[in-house]
Amino acid sequence: MSIEPELHAWVEVDLDALRENYRTVRRVVGSHAGIIPMVKGNGYGLGVEHVIHALEPMDPFAYGVATVPEGVELRELGIERPVFNLSPTSPGDEESAARAELVVSISDLEALDRWIAACRALGRRADFHVEVDTGMGRCGFDRRETKQWAEAILSRCGPDVRWQGIFTHFYGADDPDWSGTRTQWERFNDVLAQLPISREDLLVHVTNSAGALRGPEYAADAVRPGIYLYGGDPAPGLEPREFPSPRQVVAVRARLLTVREVPAESTVGYGATYVAEGPQRWGTIGVGYADGIRRALSNRGQAIVRGRRVPIIGRVSMNVIVVDLTSLPDVRAGDVVTLIGNDGDETITVDEVAEHVGTIGYEILTGLTPRLPRLEIADDPNG
Ligand SMILES: *Cc1c(COP(=O)(O)O)cnc(C)c1O
Repeated sequence: MSIEPELHAWVEVDLDALRENYRTVRRVVGSHAGIIPMVKGNGYGLGVEHVIHALEPMDPFAYGVATVPEGVELRELGIERPVFNLSPTSPGDEESAARAELVVSISDLEALDRWIAACRALGRRADFHVEVDTGMGRCGFDRRETKQWAEAILSRCGPDVRWQGIFTHFYGADDPDWSGTRTQWERFNDVLAQLPISREDLLVHVTNSAGALRGPEYAADAVRPGIYLYGGDPAPGLEPREFPSPRQVVAVRARLLTVREVPAESTVGYGATYVAEGPQRWGTIGVGYADGIRRALSNRGQAIVRGRRVPIIGRVSMNVIVVDLTSLPDVRAGDVVTLIGNDGDETITVDEVAEHVGTIGYEILTGLTPRLPRLEIADDPNG
């Protein structure tokens, strides 16, 4: 591994793999639907600048974010295509959203009035999408009162106030039982049927990764994939598999700082929770929970060294983890240890780590802290 020898721990972002996952989404949903990559949470923790570097050559329809500052950051990075903030705008953030020419999501009439006022004050057009709550319950207009809110929204529209889209969000597209998703889809279509505006005049979008890959018939005008692009499995428990597994995008690696032979009964880490049964060979890497390598991996997780799996022993500390290298007599300080990602024939997926920790891949990726530098890996830098 020839990566910058001065780095002791880092995250690799494989731009080719990210693009291949994008192409898989494209292939599954077909050519008619737009793709709106969700890049919120700093590109799901990968570093949004690397994510857009990978995705810009794919010419996505728009990007999706969750806060106004995330949208502003995309503009600062030079993104000119549409940016949708798919969460409600925090009251007070309207002016900055208008300056960045974001398309905001509207879940209530007061928010719409604030958006219109902020845009008018700047002489900007107020573009927005309407969110409909079909069961997620976080935000969105009530599907049972469509006639009232839809009329109220339409009455505010004009050349400088443009209702451009409508969407909802599935709460269980990852669930093997697809009945909740079907119900939400039907509720959403009931709403569309009641609108006082032609469906053709609106961009209709519904599905996240799991929804888009499992239900291409729900693709509507655009899909909003996130986790799949970044190599996370959007429906980890699903059997049989209904779509291709994503390619791994993220690798977390660290160099062995020191390797030692230890006698039987040596202990390791806080609490001395691991005791060597016989003479062993231990290696220490300079990465820990302050980097987002979760403490729940203590005595459970694994790592890959020279293409072979080795166990994490003892507690994960803030800055240091110890692995048992007894099975690998040739390994020495400076060698690279992989905590997430491929090495040789072995792969530790984000979802394997999430399962050890008792969480989801999203939380593992977004939990990788800024202390780990993000390095772009690409065979073909232009996609
Ligand atoms: C985050 C998000 C998505 C993407 O979800 P994934 O499960 O990561 O594909 C889609 N739509 C909305 C509204 C979101 O907030």
